[in-house]
Amino acid sequence: MHADVDRILFSESEIVAGIDRVAREVTRAYTGRDFTVVSVLKGSCVFASDLIRRIPIPLELAFLAASSYGDGTEAGRLEVNFFPTGNEIEGRNLLLVDDILDTGRTLHALKHELALRGAAEVRTCVFLDKPSRRAVPLQADFRAFEVENLFVVGYGLDFAGRYRNLPYVASLREAIYAAPKPGPV
Ligand code: 5GP
Ligand code: MG
Repeated sequence: MHADVDRILFSESEIVAGIDRVAREVTRAYTGRDFTVVSVLKGSCVFASDLIRRIPIPLELAFLAASSYGDGTEAGRLEVNFFPTGNEIEGRNLLLVDDILDTGRTLHALKHELALRGAAEVRTCVFLDKPSRRAVPLQADFRAFEVENLFVVGYGLDFAGRYRNLPYVASLREAIYAAPKPGPV
């Protein structure tokens, strides 16, 4: 897997430092208020699990599953596979946590849907932000890193379902994207 990597953009130690900083910002923003971290699966599971362990105030955890990419690197239609239950949403202060804010369509749609379902407040926290790619006007309330306009994998982010377990963020060698889709994993 490591042999498929072209360039490491954020190393493990850089990631730890970035998450420490975001965790402090989130802690400051929510001290004295109840809130629920809503991790957007699958991509944000690694980030969310590291992030919550650095937030030393009470919080609850919920999940939703959404996918906007097929097996390649181009955006497809947003599909929501499941939402938190009604009482995990209604009247709650939600912090939507996602792996990357790209065009913004995913978080824009999810924020809207959670508000419709009765959330008291919906803020957003992303591991990576690609501001140059934005198609809808949306800024994350918290973000760990800004990233250039490049398809990246690792630390939760996949290509064709793989590479989520890389401990750093990297781009892949050109030949990997060009190769035919791997078989079932
Ligand atoms: P948006 O709706 O903001 O365009 O897209 C957000 C989703 O697109 C992310 O949650 C992620 O699944 C996918 N995505 C966007 N850019 C990248 C990237 O560089 N690498 C990977 N692996 N996924 C990406
Ligand atoms: Mg994804």
